Amino acid sequence: MSNRLLWPAVGLMAAMTFNAVAQTSAPTAKSPRNRSDVPAEFRWDFSPIYPNWDAWEAGMRDMEAKTDAFAALKGTLKNGPDAVLKAYLSFDEIGKLQYRLYRYPQLQRDVDTRDQAVAGRFQRVGALFAKFDTATAWFTPELLTIPQATMQGWLDQTPALAPYRFPILEAYRKAAHVLDEKGEHLMSLAGRFNGTPRETYSELSTSDIKFPTITLADGSSATLSPASYYALLEGNRDQADRAKAAAAHLGAYAATAHTYAAVYNGVLQRDWFIAQARNFPTTLDAALDSDAVPRQVVETLIEATRAGVAPLQRYFRLRKKLLGLDTYHPYDGSLPLYKSDKTYPYETARELALASVAPLGADYVSQYRRFVSGGRIDVYESPGKRSGAYSAGVYGVGPYQLLNYNDTLDAVFTFAHEGGHAMHTVLSYENQPFATSDYTIFVAEVASTTNERFLLEELLRRTTDPKERFLLLQHAADSIVGTYFTQVMFADFELQAHRLVEQGQPITTAVLRKLYGDTARAYYGDAMTLDPFYEDTWARISHFFNSPYYVYQYATCFASSAQLFKAMTTGTPESRKAATERYLTLLKSGGNDQPMKQLQKAGVDLTQRATIQSVIDQLDALVTQMEAEAAKIR
Ligand SMILES: [Zn+2]
Repeated sequence: MSNRLLWPAVGLMAAMTFNAVAQTSAPTAKSPRNRSDVPAEFRWDFSPIYPNWDAWEAGMRDMEAKTDAFAALKGTLKNGPDAVLKAYLSFDEIGKLQYRLYRYPQLQRDVDTRDQAVAGRFQRVGALFAKFDTATAWFTPELLTIPQATMQGWLDQTPALAPYRFPILEAYRKAAHVLDEKGEHLMSLAGRFNGTPRETYSELSTSDIKFPTITLADGSSATLSPASYYALLEGNRDQADRAKAAAAHLGAYAATAHTYAAVYNGVLQRDWFIAQARNFPTTLDAALDSDAVPRQVVETLIEATRAGVAPLQRYFRLRKKLLGLDTYHPYDGSLPLYKSDKTYPYETARELALASVAPLGADYVSQYRRFVSGGRIDVYESPGKRSGAYSAGVYGVGPYQLLNYNDTLDAVFTFAHEGGHAMHTVLSYENQPFATSDYTIFVAEVASTTNERFLLEELLRRTTDPKERFLLLQHAADSIVGTYFTQVMFADFELQAHRLVEQGQPITTAVLRKLYGDTARAYYGDAMTLDPFYEDTWARISHFFNSPYYVYQYATCFASSAQLFKAMTTGTPESRKAATERYLTLLKSGGNDQPMKQLQKAGVDLTQRATIQSVIDQLDALVTQMEAEAAKIR
């Protein structure tokens, strides 16, 4: 039985990474204002979670008492279905409580990270949850001592166990890779240094890294920390400056490339150790087991994308032409093709987002309207507030959404993206019992990217201005490049790197440089000049070190949403309606089945190349539209 809240929230984790990929440093339209100057409607209302801190303190005591009561159930599960039911009901009560106890301080911390009192309370939650995990560690091993056939009988004869059928059967499925007591003890001892590569990477790439200062063509100087580096790539029209910056920024990683390679070897060796210890044939199988995703999904994704890079290269060539460059490099990829001074006040974004989801039906729209009507979205930047955007749920209360809204087009898309997550939460909470209300990352980003796609349609529908249309299409193309092609390329690289270790091949700086260079060239072809220093890029992709085999999910979500969107918006009215119903059923199904099966019920089969092809086709169509609009711009 796992403690889901101790992991970063699905939406939170995804949103943070998504933003890191899709947007860099958007200009701020308004300077931060004090929270007290922001109308209450645009600030979070925490009172639906707890009326005050006293109530939260009472909740903490309640959790402690409930934890002790749960621990007392140890040894009872073999008594029969009623005992199992009692334990699950008790766990549900604690789980619902955990959401409130965790979010109440967490959300308040995030709107003012300077508040030490709140930060202190939040730390107490972590300590209490750790105690709970220790006190309940007996549960799954004890459950699995009951033979599966016996459990199957109990499930069949006990209707009240229905909400727990899926989690229980999943526990049995995963048991195939659980070791005996001695083996698990060894694994838990090894677990203490499994985090060492990640910790070492974090120190090396943040504490110890020295970002260089360079002199630009106009005589000014720039220190190339990640934030100022991305700002330079977006804003500096001098290609020689961008080239110099890219070489210097990547050079900061190259300076300790051998150490990065040794750390990455540690990641790969650890993954291979865990896979072998738990009897998986490969590291990929081990990584995909928790969501029961077949290996074929990742392999098909990579194969089909490698074969479908033509639209990506077409897009690069179009950018090269419109930017008037003789050669096109990765450091030219963030430069805007046209400038727009159009702004989107928050009220406009809200109206646009609501209008865009009309195809999802009146019920969806009215629930969305209720969500955006006040108290659940913390809209504006303010001193001490954390950056980025996310959506986070509280079972029994609903979702909360954090924004740093700044009136740009990017901010409108971020709002729609997080709205997709929030509505997924609304529909899942409304239709699922607590036990199956949490959805996986694997389906989460389908909801968010689908809403972004609806927003794009709505914005395109409202304008005939070629420049504005071009910027919208470019936004869509950039998100396919950033969250699809780039992520598949990364997944491709890490799969090959893991395979080298599985085959007993050495991992050295030279091997990783060549591997990254060869992989990038397979995607970029001759449409992009890959300067030699770009071969060190692997060292700065934190996902490779922190969460191996994670990024492919961005791409599969993108492909799924592309296919669902196509089914909901093309074809006969009957087929559209059926596709929309299937999509809403997916959102309402929360986490009640394995994600691949949930998607299959919605009409998406990720083992099929055609599913992957729909994203590739989408980029191809966008580039064609962009070429047409560009021809009209004077
Ligand atoms: Zn997201």
